[in-house]
Amino acid sequence: MNGKTVMACIEAAHATLKEHTDEIAALDQQIGDGDHIFNLLRGMDALFAMRAAIEAEAFAPALDQAASKLLSTVGGSSGPLFFSLLHGMAKAAQNADTLSVADAARIFAAGVDAVAQRGKAGTGSKTMMDVLIPVASRFMELAERSAPREAVLDALPRTAEEGMLATRDMLATKGRASFLGERARGHIDPGARSSQLMIGAVCARLAQYRE
Ligand SMILES: [Mg+2]
Repeated sequence: MNGKTVMACIEAAHATLKEHTDEIAALDQQIGDGDHIFNLLRGMDALFAMRAAIEAEAFAPALDQAASKLLSTVGGSSGPLFFSLLHGMAKAAQNADTLSVADAARIFAAGVDAVAQRGKAGTGSKTMMDVLIPVASRFMELAERSAPREAVLDALPRTAEEGMLATRDMLATKGRASFLGERARGHIDPGARSSQLMIGAVCARLAQYRE
């Protein structure tokens, strides 16, 4: 893993968000203020503009540069959360440019933990955490069983999808959607959907690399 791999993952995440922009905007109009996907895309566009700088870095500093850029461009409630994810991962990654499944699981879990602390949310609040936390747990579990890399990249998108779908029947207790009470039920959380799509796209992209 290095800055080029990080940029390839950003590209994959950006492509799927572009493809699903209307759908995510519609989800957000149902239970939020509709800005989530546009905030995220603004951040992604800013990352593209600094592509060469990210690609020139090693893994951890590339994540850190992307984290800082997202913090200053995404805004809304998700800017600090995506910063925490990437910055938390960068801190845990240190100099690990060659990652085992166990390293990657630990690094991802550290990032998710940082998001949970920043957002003060666990699972069950109808947020992106309903995707991130189950994926981090599954990742750790697979690493503990010494699952091969391909099996992990195959399993995590399915866990992400289950987590995203589970938000449909939840009441929201965080953010704007919490004011809707029972009316939030029946709607998938847009942040859970965008996180799930990005995880799926990143896993698919990483599966194209040998290691
Ligand atoms: Mg919003």
